[in-house]
Amino acid sequence: IKLLASLSGSAPAESSTRGWSLPGVEEMEFIAKRAAALGVSDPFFRQHDGLAAATTLIDGREYINFSSYDYLGLNGDPRVIAQVEKALHRYGTTVSASRMVSGERPFHRELERALADWHGAEDCVVMVSGHATNVTTLAQLMRPGDLIIHDALAHNSLIQGAILSGARRIAFPHNDVAAAREQLWMHRRAHKRALLVLEGHYSMDGDIPDLAAFVELAREFDCMTLVDEAHSTGVLGARGHGIAEETGVPPDSIDLWMGTLSKSLISCGGYIAGRADIITYLKRTAAGFVYSVGLPPTNAAASMAALDIIREEPWRIARLRENATLLLRLFREAGFDTGTSEGYGIVPLVTGSSLLAGRLSQALFERGLNVQPIIHPAVPEKAARLRFFVSASHTSGQIEQTVSIVTQALRALSE
Ligand code: PMP
Repeated sequence: IKLLASLSGSAPAESSTRGWSLPGVEEMEFIAKRAAALGVSDPFFRQHDGLAAATTLIDGREYINFSSYDYLGLNGDPRVIAQVEKALHRYGTTVSASRMVSGERPFHRELERALADWHGAEDCVVMVSGHATNVTTLAQLMRPGDLIIHDALAHNSLIQGAILSGARRIAFPHNDVAAAREQLWMHRRAHKRALLVLEGHYSMDGDIPDLAAFVELAREFDCMTLVDEAHSTGVLGARGHGIAEETGVPPDSIDLWMGTLSKSLISCGGYIAGRADIITYLKRTAAGFVYSVGLPPTNAAASMAALDIIREEPWRIARLRENATLLLRLFREAGFDTGTSEGYGIVPLVTGSSLLAGRLSQALFERGLNVQPIIHPAVPEKAARLRFFVSASHTSGQIEQTVSIVTQALRALSE
């Protein structure tokens, strides 16, 4: 996040003259200046005009877009808009209070029921932000004396929640079951309760965990489990039900499924589905739920409509998979480093240096492709990359064109 802010180059110049300094400002300014000196323009905060789907309009020019999480191409679908309009006219734009106070509306429980069924879970709670859902859930569930063990590539929101909880936090190397086992072997006994935290589909690499092996590990060491399905709901499994469906692991082997409404479900908000006792507890105690407004009607309606469409049109998931595997295959055939991506929906192109990632992103932008660089310190310097988010709405022609543009741009940069 620091890095994203740094490359935006908007750090207030007078910040250090007001008697207190903002952490990291000097580093941010240094990186912004260095990028400018190297001729790399700021790739962040670009304004998209209208709907960003397979293509997007920026400053009047159309780009093939690989920077949106609308995996199934549902944003702007007329059926979704019709449902959102209905909710808007019936309930207005907000529920005007925390649900506990006077913000509860029928659509909250309808969406929660639908999401609980989606994950084969007993119950579900929806909140107003995916990030806040992870922060408040982990912070509320765990406490000092407990242990949170998580994949090293866990999302910022999971880490922030773990820190806030006061529990001991241990990261194990990405997808490494043996390393996680070793940590549990060493540290589990000294802690009262333990929570194993995974993601269903990792957004930096586009790979998935060995869920069955992690479930067994959690049983062996008496850990609760939480799986963040932000990038796997609507992406994994033939019906889009996520990593459990993809791997054939019974969904009730996991205590808590976390998901966001902002990706395949084309809205804004987050949820936890799982054991009914935990959901009830969170609804009564989690600060990010109790002290925050209930999910707005339009957000709930958009996600409900998306769930209905995904149920009726599973071809979208197959289409996403075809597109992602095509991009992965063509990148590999061209000799590009795609890391450990398995072609479910996210395909990284590892450049091996932040400078090359920045320059390549810019060269692609000049050639009509919108794809963002991920650079140090967000990833280790050698793992700097461009990250392609594929959608069911891309055509195979656009994917082929993309590979040829990347090939040309890389050639031009190496001349
Ligand atoms: N979890 C993961 C794995 C994510 O990638 C993200 C956001 N990209 C979130 C949680 C937070 O979700 P939201 O953006 O909907 O707040």
